[in-house]
Amino acid sequence: MTQNPLDTMREQIETAASLAKCHKCGCFQQTTEALAHTEPGKQELSGLLERARSTFVEKQYDCLGCAVCYPAIAANVFAEAYPEQSESLDLCPTAMPEERPGWPPLPGEYQVARYAAPVAVVTLNSEALAEQLKGKQPEGMAVVGPMHTENLGIERVIQNILANPNIRFLLVCGEDTQQAVGHLPGQSLESLFKYGIDDNMRIAKAQGKRPYLKNVTREQVQTFLEQVELVSSIGLTDIETITDQIRACAARNPGPFEKQIETRKIEVVRAQDAERFVADAAGFFVIYPDEKRGLLIVEHYTPTGVLDCIIEGKAPMAIYMEAIDRQLISRLDHAAYVGRELDRAYNALAAGEPYVQDRVPYPNEKTQSGGCGCDSSCSAA
Ligand code: SF4
Repeated sequence: MTQNPLDTMREQIETAASLAKCHKCGCFQQTTEALAHTEPGKQELSGLLERARSTFVEKQYDCLGCAVCYPAIAANVFAEAYPEQSESLDLCPTAMPEERPGWPPLPGEYQVARYAAPVAVVTLNSEALAEQLKGKQPEGMAVVGPMHTENLGIERVIQNILANPNIRFLLVCGEDTQQAVGHLPGQSLESLFKYGIDDNMRIAKAQGKRPYLKNVTREQVQTFLEQVELVSSIGLTDIETITDQIRACAARNPGPFEKQIETRKIEVVRAQDAERFVADAAGFFVIYPDEKRGLLIVEHYTPTGVLDCIIEGKAPMAIYMEAIDRQLISRLDHAAYVGRELDRAYNALAAGEPYVQDRVPYPNEKTQSGGCGCDSSCSAA
């Protein structure tokens, strides 16, 4: 016997309401709200939807992409039972998250590798693949992350790529499985590149359930399509092959995209040669390696030249963290200097080479006159 659609919807909503993962999911929250505006939602299901609402906590993701999504099943059953009301049923979250300064402007599950690199990688529903690529950090990769939806997901990709003119390739890989909610982001992205958008901002010939781009303009979509070349490897999950594809794209990088419609640019600052060194009120350091014991030795002197502490250790980080914890450094430039000198001393010790503190390590850098890296006004000089 076929189950009454309302009973099926009740079962599915109750199941979602019993699961912590759904309480913070946009799918559950949006579907509950959307159903509450329908006739059954105002009548037979009103009590249930009110209880479902009471389980909501702050949204942590738009859609977790579960293989079985209970609110989506409820919404699909509703659409079949009440086709005349399903048109306006907004099943998925459609509001963009707030932009933030810097790049990428829209937050998401992705990981940034390098701003100046030319390849953005989308792994669709293969989250583990995105994690693997994050760990591997192939050369040429600017950013990597999954993409679960053909509306918000694609809009986010468009906005974040438009904000970085260095990105010239969009590599799409991973599984594009159509889950219960009906999203098909990979196929929709391919359709966007092949057929564009229609008058209603719907991605032409996209087979996903809601392929509407509501939070970007037509001009933004057009510019995005001009800025990046789509490299479609939907279904591909082999990390070595994907890495090769990223490298191949990077090898034919045409350079930054010039036609920018956004003013969001990351400032590039050319560092000036340091003109001055200022004495650290916390004192100064004398650094040297102890070859016999295989240790780095750091003597700390007060500004008047009185030794008050000796730190020894094998690793630069252990030593400078100890110095910081003991508040022996009060200036950032002094901290940078000590870190650099410790690194030089460490490398000299490891290579069995002599180390002289304050030797000019970079060709264009000014010579420092004091044992602490300060100018001649320093009491240590
Ligand atoms: S995708 Fe569906 S089943 Fe998964 S957490 Fe979200 S609402 Fe729950």
